Amino acid sequence: AFVGQTTDAATGTASIIVNSEGQNVIVIVPGANLLLNSEDLKRASDVICKAKVVVCQLEITPAVSLEALKMARASGVKTIFNPAPALADLDSQFYTHSDIFCCNETEAEILTGIPVGNLEDAEKVGHVLLERGCKLVIVTLGAEGCMMISVEEPIPKHVPAGKVRAVDTTGAGDSFVGALAFYLAYYPKLPMEEMIRKSNCVASVSVQASGTQSSYPYRKDLPQDLF
Ligand code: ADP
Repeated sequence: AFVGQTTDAATGTASIIVNSEGQNVIVIVPGANLLLNSEDLKRASDVICKAKVVVCQLEITPAVSLEALKMARASGVKTIFNPAPALADLDSQFYTHSDIFCCNETEAEILTGIPVGNLEDAEKVGHVLLERGCKLVIVTLGAEGCMMISVEEPIPKHVPAGKVRAVDTTGAGDSFVGALAFYLAYYPKLPMEEMIRKSNCVASVSVQASGTQSSYPYRKDLPQDLF
Protein backbone atom coordinates (compact mmCIF):
# COMPACT_ATOMS: atom_id res chain seq x y z
CA ALA A 1 0.00 0.00 0.00
CA PHE A 2 2.89 2.38 0.60
CA VAL A 3 5.07 1.65 -2.42
CA GLY A 4 5.14 4.53 -4.89
CA GLN A 5 6.80 5.45 -8.15
CA THR A 6 9.11 8.35 -8.85
CA THR A 7 10.62 9.87 -11.97
CA ASP A 8 13.58 11.21 -9.96
CA ALA A 9 15.64 7.99 -9.78
CA ALA A 10 15.78 4.45 -11.10
CA THR A 11 14.58 1.46 -9.09
CA GLY A 12 17.22 0.21 -6.64
CA THR A 13 19.10 -2.77 -8.06
CA ALA A 14 21.63 -5.33 -6.94
CA SER A 15 23.91 -7.11 -9.42
CA ILE A 16 24.92 -10.46 -7.96
CA ILE A 17 27.82 -12.72 -8.90
CA VAL A 18 27.73 -16.29 -7.52
CA ASN A 19 30.72 -18.67 -7.60
CA SER A 20 30.71 -22.47 -7.88
CA GLU A 21 30.54 -22.82 -4.06
CA GLY A 22 27.36 -20.76 -3.95
CA GLN A 23 29.12 -17.73 -2.40
CA ASN A 24 28.29 -14.28 -3.71
CA VAL A 25 29.50 -10.75 -4.33
CA ILE A 26 26.80 -8.08 -4.59
CA VAL A 27 26.99 -4.58 -6.11
CA ILE A 28 24.12 -2.46 -4.81
CA VAL A 29 22.90 0.63 -6.66
CA PRO A 30 20.33 2.08 -4.26
CA GLY A 31 18.64 4.45 -6.74
CA ALA A 32 15.14 5.38 -5.54
CA ASN A 33 15.69 3.60 -2.20
CA LEU A 34 17.54 6.69 -1.00
CA LEU A 35 14.54 8.90 -1.74
CA LEU A 36 12.40 7.21 0.91
CA ASN A 37 12.01 9.88 3.60
CA SER A 38 10.33 10.92 6.84
CA GLU A 39 7.19 11.98 5.01
CA ASP A 40 6.84 8.46 3.61
CA LEU A 41 7.25 7.07 7.13
CA LYS A 42 4.59 9.40 8.48
CA ARG A 43 2.17 8.26 5.79
CA ALA A 44 2.77 4.64 6.87
CA SER A 45 2.90 5.38 10.60
CA ASP A 46 -0.41 3.74 11.36
CA VAL A 47 0.77 0.44 9.86
CA ILE A 48 4.21 0.70 11.47
CA CYS A 49 2.80 1.42 14.93
CA LYS A 50 0.21 -1.35 14.78
CA ALA A 51 2.55 -4.02 13.42
CA LYS A 52 3.64 -7.01 15.47
CA VAL A 53 7.20 -6.76 14.16
CA VAL A 54 9.14 -4.13 12.20
CA VAL A 55 12.30 -5.11 10.31
CA CYS A 56 14.79 -2.43 9.28
CA GLN A 57 18.10 -2.52 7.46
CA LEU A 58 20.39 -0.17 5.56
CA GLU A 59 19.22 -0.30 1.95
CA ILE A 60 17.42 3.00 2.55
CA THR A 61 18.94 6.14 4.12
CA PRO A 62 20.16 5.05 7.59
CA ALA A 63 18.52 8.03 9.33
CA VAL A 64 15.15 7.01 7.89
CA SER A 65 15.67 3.42 8.99
CA LEU A 66 16.48 4.65 12.49
CA GLU A 67 13.39 6.84 12.54
CA ALA A 68 11.25 3.82 11.62
CA LEU A 69 12.83 1.79 14.44
CA LYS A 70 12.12 4.59 16.91
CA MET A 71 8.55 4.93 15.68
CA ALA A 72 7.94 1.21 16.10
CA ARG A 73 9.51 0.98 19.55
CA ALA A 74 7.59 3.99 20.82
CA SER A 75 4.44 1.96 20.13
CA GLY A 76 5.80 -1.21 21.75
CA VAL A 77 6.34 -2.95 18.40
CA LYS A 78 9.14 -5.57 18.34
CA THR A 79 12.05 -4.47 16.15
CA ILE A 80 14.65 -6.45 14.26
CA PHE A 81 17.58 -4.60 12.78
CA ASN A 82 19.82 -6.11 10.12
CA PRO A 83 22.81 -3.79 9.41
CA ALA A 84 23.03 -4.68 5.72
CA PRO A 85 24.88 -3.37 3.80
CA ALA A 86 27.21 -2.67 6.73
CA LEU A 87 28.46 0.78 7.70
CA ALA A 88 31.61 1.21 9.79
CA ASP A 89 30.26 4.33 11.50
CA LEU A 90 26.78 3.07 12.33
CA ASP A 91 24.82 5.46 14.56
CA SER A 92 24.97 3.95 18.06
CA GLN A 93 21.21 4.41 18.46
CA PHE A 94 20.73 1.42 16.14
CA TYR A 95 22.11 -0.77 18.92
CA THR A 96 19.80 0.57 21.59
CA HIS A 97 16.67 0.85 19.46
CA SER A 98 16.51 -2.71 18.15
CA ASP A 99 15.11 -5.62 20.15
CA ILE A 100 17.08 -8.03 17.98
CA PHE A 101 20.30 -7.04 16.23
CA CYS A 102 21.10 -9.59 13.54
CA CYS A 103 24.27 -9.39 11.43
CA ASN A 104 26.34 -11.75 9.29
CA GLU A 105 30.11 -12.33 9.54
CA THR A 106 31.09 -9.51 7.15
CA GLU A 107 28.80 -7.00 8.81
CA ALA A 108 30.07 -8.09 12.23
CA GLU A 109 33.65 -7.38 11.16
CA ILE A 110 32.85 -3.98 9.63
CA LEU A 111 30.98 -2.93 12.79
CA THR A 112 33.46 -4.20 15.38
CA GLY A 113 36.79 -4.66 13.58
CA ILE A 114 36.79 -8.32 14.69
CA PRO A 115 37.21 -10.69 11.71
CA VAL A 116 34.72 -13.53 12.16
CA GLY A 117 36.03 -16.90 11.02
CA ASN A 118 34.56 -19.12 13.70
CA LEU A 119 32.12 -19.37 16.57
CA GLU A 120 34.56 -17.95 19.10
CA ASP A 121 35.01 -14.78 17.02
CA ALA A 122 31.24 -14.44 16.74
CA GLU A 123 30.99 -14.70 20.53
CA LYS A 124 33.50 -11.84 20.88
CA VAL A 125 31.39 -9.76 18.49
CA GLY A 126 28.30 -10.62 20.53
CA HIS A 127 29.91 -9.32 23.72
CA VAL A 128 31.05 -6.09 22.00
CA LEU A 129 27.56 -5.46 20.61
CA LEU A 130 25.95 -6.09 24.01
CA GLU A 131 28.35 -3.52 25.46
CA ARG A 132 27.15 -1.08 22.80
CA GLY A 133 23.61 -1.44 24.10
CA CYS A 134 22.09 -4.34 22.15
CA LYS A 135 19.61 -6.54 24.02
CA LEU A 136 19.85 -9.61 21.84
CA VAL A 137 22.50 -10.22 19.19
CA ILE A 138 22.43 -12.88 16.49
CA VAL A 139 25.48 -13.39 14.28
CA THR A 140 24.65 -15.60 11.31
CA LEU A 141 27.48 -17.92 10.31
CA GLY A 142 26.44 -19.33 6.93
CA ALA A 143 26.57 -23.14 6.93
CA GLU A 144 27.38 -23.07 10.67
CA GLY A 145 23.99 -21.57 11.53
CA CYS A 146 24.30 -18.77 14.06
CA MET A 147 25.39 -17.52 17.44
CA MET A 148 22.99 -15.85 19.84
CA ILE A 149 23.71 -13.88 22.99
CA SER A 150 21.49 -11.60 25.04
CA VAL A 151 21.46 -9.45 28.13
CA GLU A 152 19.17 -12.03 29.73
CA GLU A 153 21.34 -14.98 28.63
CA PRO A 154 24.90 -13.63 28.41
CA ILE A 155 26.39 -17.08 27.79
CA PRO A 156 26.64 -17.33 23.99
CA LYS A 157 24.74 -20.16 22.33
CA HIS A 158 25.50 -21.80 19.01
CA VAL A 159 22.39 -22.73 17.04
CA PRO A 160 23.61 -24.96 14.19
CA ALA A 161 21.99 -25.21 10.75
CA GLY A 162 21.29 -28.56 9.07
CA LYS A 163 23.81 -29.94 6.55
CA VAL A 164 22.62 -29.16 3.03
CA ARG A 165 24.14 -28.78 -0.43
CA ALA A 166 24.24 -25.01 -1.00
CA VAL A 167 23.68 -23.92 -4.60
CA ASP A 168 23.34 -20.18 -4.06
CA THR A 169 23.49 -18.52 -0.65
CA THR A 170 22.41 -15.09 -1.97
CA GLY A 171 19.62 -13.77 0.23
CA ALA A 172 20.15 -16.39 2.95
CA GLY A 173 20.41 -13.65 5.58
CA ASP A 174 17.16 -12.04 4.41
CA SER A 175 15.48 -15.44 4.40
CA PHE A 176 16.66 -15.96 7.99
CA VAL A 177 15.52 -12.51 9.13
CA GLY A 178 12.16 -12.88 7.36
CA ALA A 179 11.56 -16.24 9.02
CA LEU A 180 12.53 -14.83 12.41
CA ALA A 181 10.07 -11.94 11.96
CA PHE A 182 7.39 -14.50 11.09
CA TYR A 183 8.01 -16.52 14.27
CA LEU A 184 8.07 -13.38 16.43
CA ALA A 185 4.76 -12.29 14.95
CA TYR A 186 2.91 -15.60 14.87
CA TYR A 187 4.55 -17.67 17.62
CA PRO A 188 5.74 -15.02 20.09
CA LYS A 189 5.77 -17.49 22.97
CA LEU A 190 8.34 -19.82 21.38
CA PRO A 191 11.74 -19.68 23.13
CA MET A 192 14.16 -17.51 21.13
CA GLU A 193 16.53 -20.43 20.56
CA GLU A 194 13.69 -22.40 18.98
CA MET A 195 12.73 -19.45 16.73
CA ILE A 196 16.36 -19.23 15.61
CA ARG A 197 16.59 -22.98 15.00
CA LYS A 198 13.46 -22.85 12.83
CA SER A 199 14.73 -19.75 11.00
CA ASN A 200 17.98 -21.62 10.25
CA CYS A 201 15.84 -24.38 8.72
CA VAL A 202 13.95 -21.94 6.47
CA ALA A 203 17.18 -20.20 5.40
CA SER A 204 18.92 -23.52 4.72
CA VAL A 205 16.10 -24.42 2.32
CA SER A 206 16.62 -21.10 0.49
CA VAL A 207 20.34 -21.80 -0.15
CA GLN A 208 19.44 -24.98 -2.01
CA ALA A 209 17.76 -23.05 -4.85
CA SER A 210 19.30 -20.44 -7.14
CA GLY A 211 18.35 -16.78 -7.16
CA THR A 212 17.42 -14.53 -4.29
CA GLN A 213 13.65 -13.93 -4.10
CA SER A 214 13.12 -16.99 -6.29
CA SER A 215 14.96 -19.17 -3.74
CA TYR A 216 12.57 -18.41 -0.89
CA PRO A 217 10.30 -21.39 -0.19
CA TYR A 218 6.54 -21.15 0.08
CA ARG A 219 5.04 -22.34 3.35
CA LYS A 220 3.57 -25.38 1.58
CA ASP A 221 7.05 -26.48 0.49
CA LEU A 222 8.54 -26.39 4.00
CA PRO A 223 8.48 -29.19 6.62
CA GLN A 224 5.16 -28.65 8.36
CA ASP A 225 6.69 -29.09 11.81
CA LEU A 226 8.12 -25.60 11.31
CA PHE A 227 4.61 -24.27 11.94
P1 ADP B 1 24.10 -13.62 4.58
O1 ADP B 1 23.22 -14.10 3.48
O2 ADP B 1 23.63 -12.34 5.18
O3 ADP B 1 25.57 -13.63 4.24
P2 ADP B 1 24.62 -16.08 6.09
O4 ADP B 1 25.46 -16.57 4.97
O5 ADP B 1 25.24 -16.01 7.44
O6 ADP B 1 23.93 -14.68 5.80
O7 ADP B 1 23.35 -17.05 6.17
C1 ADP B 1 22.20 -16.76 6.92
C2 ADP B 1 21.60 -18.07 7.38
O8 ADP B 1 21.29 -18.88 6.24
C3 ADP B 1 22.50 -18.93 8.24
O9 ADP B 1 22.42 -18.52 9.60
C4 ADP B 1 21.92 -20.30 8.00
O10 ADP B 1 20.73 -20.49 8.75
C5 ADP B 1 21.54 -20.25 6.52
N1 ADP B 1 22.64 -20.71 5.64
C6 ADP B 1 23.49 -19.96 4.93
N2 ADP B 1 24.38 -20.72 4.24
C7 ADP B 1 24.07 -21.99 4.52
C8 ADP B 1 24.61 -23.29 4.14
N3 ADP B 1 25.66 -23.39 3.31
N4 ADP B 1 24.01 -24.39 4.66
C9 ADP B 1 22.96 -24.30 5.51
N5 ADP B 1 22.41 -23.13 5.91
C10 ADP B 1 22.96 -22.00 5.43
